[in-house]
Amino acid sequence: MKKLDLKNMNISELENLFLSIGEKKFRAKQLFKYIHKENKNDLDEITVLSKDLREKLKEFTEISDISILKRIDSKIDKTKKYIFKLYDNNIIESVYMESKANNTICISTQVGCKMGCVFCASTQNGYSRNLSAAEILSQVYKVERDLNKRIDNIVLMGIGEPFDNFDNVLKFIKIINSDDGHNTGIRNITISTSGIISGIDKLAKTGLQVNLAISLHNGIQKEREDIMPIAKGNKLTKLHEALLDYQNKTGRRISYEYVVIKDVNDSYDHARYIKSMCSGLDAHVNLISLNKIDEYNKQAARDPDIQRFKEKLENLGINTTIRRKQGSDIDAACGQLRNKYETLSR
Ligand code: SAH
Repeated sequence: MKKLDLKNMNISELENLFLSIGEKKFRAKQLFKYIHKENKNDLDEITVLSKDLREKLKEFTEISDISILKRIDSKIDKTKKYIFKLYDNNIIESVYMESKANNTICISTQVGCKMGCVFCASTQNGYSRNLSAAEILSQVYKVERDLNKRIDNIVLMGIGEPFDNFDNVLKFIKIINSDDGHNTGIRNITISTSGIISGIDKLAKTGLQVNLAISLHNGIQKEREDIMPIAKGNKLTKLHEALLDYQNKTGRRISYEYVVIKDVNDSYDHARYIKSMCSGLDAHVNLISLNKIDEYNKQAARDPDIQRFKEKLENLGINTTIRRKQGSDIDAACGQLRNKYETLSR
């Protein structure tokens, strides 16, 4: 039988655990700090708990971990791609990026993805399972231990759709944000979603000031459905309403992500439809150059064309940036993460 994973438990769950085995409640916080603040992964190192208690815990619990199958370092910038193996041999990827201002990690929330966006590598092999909160946490902790650095910015933009794994993602956010734990600022956490309205509504209700990035890619309903099947059940008009409500409740600026694909979504009309998605919102558009995957044969817009598209948007009064490419030499850029290791040997 699989043991109870201590890393996957919040403080109140740990309190109940300790009480249930006749121990004092305050042990919970001690253990939580050890796992989430001290970034330790071995029960034997937590000598603040007696040896007897540690032995008792070991009988039915564990502190789970993931292992680094491979780390690939970019030669052009400080980006590092991590390929992790999970306890059941599933594979996920995370990307570490560094700038003067902060250390950022882009993490996965699922093994594979169900969304089916035609241009994205992560969904090409389908979906296997959700990650537990502990497996999402471990991506951050493992990289910190490997590099001996503190990560201060977290983007849930790796493999998977965060809102398709809502409960575990929310648990992850609460644990990593806890001041008894890693204490990542809530405003330093970004969820990127393909636009699942029920998830946006649920997150809004928590009142947590998490940044929200919406993968828009097309502001025309019919055309969006052609590249993002999820758009069929999540109409743009409703998405826009959900974002207005999210902003109302959290006060956070919304960012739209927009992969510029040559002759697909880069006309003046497209710019106008993006504008309508911004109406009434404090929103910002992040243009991304399409990163090529073998399964999608459309061309990336050229840099000058992306620049021109940016100007079109700015002329319409929309705040726009072009996302800096990082780690493109190691297939670590947006949409290139996969859940199959063999793609490495290409
Ligand atoms: N499912 C979530 C998070 C994972 S995708 C979402 O859809 O937002 C992370 C980001 O990479 C999204 O903005 C996604 O649209 C973008 N992306 C996917 N494939 C890409 C590609 N081939 N080139 C550039 N960006 C891509």
